[in-house]
Amino acid sequence: SSSKHDKDKGVNVQVILRCRPLSEDEMRIHTPVVISCNESRREVCAVQNIANKQIDRTFLFDKVFGPSSQQKELFDLAVSPIVNEVLEGYNCTIFAYGQTGTGKTYTMEGGARKKNGEFPTDAGVIPRAVKQIFDILEAQNAEYSMKVTFLELYNEEITDLLAPEETSKFVVDDKTKKPIALMEDGKGGVFVRGLEEEIVTTANEIYKILEKGSAKRRTAETLLNKQSSRSHSIFSITIHIKECTPEGEEMIKCGKLNLVDLAGSENISRSGAREGRAREAGEINKSLLTLGRVINALVEHSGHVPYRDSKLTRLLRDSLGGKTKTCIIATISPSIHCLEETLSTLDYAHRAK
Ligand code: ADP
Ligand code: MG
Repeated sequence: SSSKHDKDKGVNVQVILRCRPLSEDEMRIHTPVVISCNESRREVCAVQNIANKQIDRTFLFDKVFGPSSQQKELFDLAVSPIVNEVLEGYNCTIFAYGQTGTGKTYTMEGGARKKNGEFPTDAGVIPRAVKQIFDILEAQNAEYSMKVTFLELYNEEITDLLAPEETSKFVVDDKTKKPIALMEDGKGGVFVRGLEEEIVTTANEIYKILEKGSAKRRTAETLLNKQSSRSHSIFSITIHIKECTPEGEEMIKCGKLNLVDLAGSENISRSGAREGRAREAGEINKSLLTLGRVINALVEHSGHVPYRDSKLTRLLRDSLGGKTKTCIIATISPSIHCLEETLSTLDYAHRAK
């Protein structure tokens, strides 16, 4: 089979490709489109003109979502089955990977909430996942608790996006800067010391939490004069469900879902040729590079998986490899002006399969 989430090998990495539509501005200036998506064949074709010759390159994925695909469709077909696994006690991670401006944040968080409190049609993966979890657990009349954390990783430093203002001084300057520490728990896992955990009791609360986190991300950006394209955000949902065995014994089932909006892939794709200089300039995104290596090692079953080489992979270690599921949503633009980056995203995502 061409599907690489090959159960026989125990590899559970799914790669999904999403191409955004042209923006209104791009349409107005008649930007040429060089990408075509064939959803039923799960193929993406990139058309390149080299020395007056047209070269087509085709890439196969586990699922393909073309420019007209809706948020609900992507969620129902690609993410919803993973949320069900989380409720069965799996740790799962969904990554959005791609060039800045291709729809990573749109896919994960989605558009703004509607004023009348209705569930917005452009809600992204995070609010939909939370809603599905509540809907299922409420329907089962289950006894459960859900808590979320939301953090940002920039330059291998963790910022808590949910911390109250008075403890967020670490963003201001070097003297008061207090990055949050990543600690080993002595059982092979890690935890983030002092990270704020919010208990969530209704699906609607997630919007407040997303807004709070996003506002904080913007403030931190302005203060440090940095670009969000170089930071990763990790939204984690942990669920504890009380269950009874047939013998009447009480059991707690625990599942975790990590939703990761990665730094723009342009932060690594061009680094190959000039790695030395880029590293000096602090341009290389260690976490993004290491993630690629970890996923390759998992997919190829090479013995050593370099989890320890970056904060991102240390943070996600209990949700990558072993009895876990991983889904990479690679996002691309259809525009001719993005073709070079698009090809490197297609190559990267294809290799991850
Ligand atoms: P990224 O997070 O990868 O930098 P964004 O999510 O901010 O990119 O998307 C860039 C712009 O394109 C935003 O205005 C967003 O609303 C729009 N966009 C992205 N993907 C889609 C899509 N699938 N459908 C409609 N608009 C999209
Ligand atoms: Mg973004």
